Amino acid sequence: MSGAAAGDVPVLWLTAGLSCDGDSIAMTAATQPSLEDLVFGAFPGVPKVRFHHPVLAYEVGAEFLETFEAAQGEDFPPFILVIEGSVPNEANHAEGCWAGLGTDPDTGQPIPTTTWIDRLAPKAWAVMAVGTCATYGGIHAMAGNPTGAMGLADYLGWGWRAKSGLPIVNVPGCPVQPDNCTETLLYLLRQMVGAAPPIPLDEVLRPKWLFFQTVHEGCDRAGYYEQGDFASEYGSPRCIVKLGCWGPVADCNVGKRGWINGVGGCANVGGACIGCTMPGFPDKFMPFLDEPPGAKMSSSAVLLYGRTVRALRKVTRGSLNVEPEWRRRTDVVVAEPVVDSGGE
Ligand code: SF4
Ligand code: SF4
Repeated sequence: MSGAAAGDVPVLWLTAGLSCDGDSIAMTAATQPSLEDLVFGAFPGVPKVRFHHPVLAYEVGAEFLETFEAAQGEDFPPFILVIEGSVPNEANHAEGCWAGLGTDPDTGQPIPTTTWIDRLAPKAWAVMAVGTCATYGGIHAMAGNPTGAMGLADYLGWGWRAKSGLPIVNVPGCPVQPDNCTETLLYLLRQMVGAAPPIPLDEVLRPKWLFFQTVHEGCDRAGYYEQGDFASEYGSPRCIVKLGCWGPVADCNVGKRGWINGVGGCANVGGACIGCTMPGFPDKFMPFLDEPPGAKMSSSAVLLYGRTVRALRKVTRGSLNVEPEWRRRTDVVVAEPVVDSGGE
């Protein structure tokens, strides 16, 4: 792993994949750390970040692209390349391109996004794929799509390495949970200045500490599941597994972390988990909002135990809601309650 001198670190953010730009918008809600924390250098010893991002930039057109051109040269400082959006297969059509950014001055044609990736990825100190589209292909990569869309690791290769020696760092989510994104960026910055060991990634290149748990393991409704107490309609506070929640098998920390500043989280607030952080999304989770096949079996198994335990707990709760007898005064004569006869 190569180190880098402390100083502002350019983060070149390509939103020109196939996407809705939702990850960029989500990131503006990050609080742990926030964009401002990263830009203004809130962390001692961690370099500040200079974002080159179309949503945040004042520059437009060719002026905006100057940094992306310069980053291909040898004099450019170590930078982090962020890819948002899935990567189309530009080899599957005769003319034009599925996705592009800027115009080639020689041909007057759009510069394909894949060309930017080919030029910039080998120069980057680290490469992050942000959001499910960039990581694993997402919605655009569904069976039968005409674009041949894929995730960045499918495009560059799962064994691909950046200049630092790091593999692609995948932070999936549709959109990405904002703090998962900025926290991963912060980790890379710390690694860049030698303040952290190489980022630990799981077998599908997600930061391990963010994706080691299932939604279910951190869900506010897990107590209802355990008691076999399942919602049959929306608006109920109970477990929504029978309304299509895939939380028991989806690796995601949103149940614990919430969405913005610790608040929210899909299943917590009544939105069935559709497994958006998983490489098999969306095809393997469809049709959305149908009870998952595995849940039919597991929730049936839970029912007998859950209902029995719930009934027993009801009895126990009843007894626990009564104070022990010895806490009452014995020297006070309690008056009989006065019954209002209503004036009759
Ligand atoms: Fe698990 Fe989903 Fe039920 Fe939450 S709502 S307890 S994640 S099945
Ligand atoms: Fe995606 Fe499920 Fe996590 Fe929500 S809880 S972000 S749907 S994986």
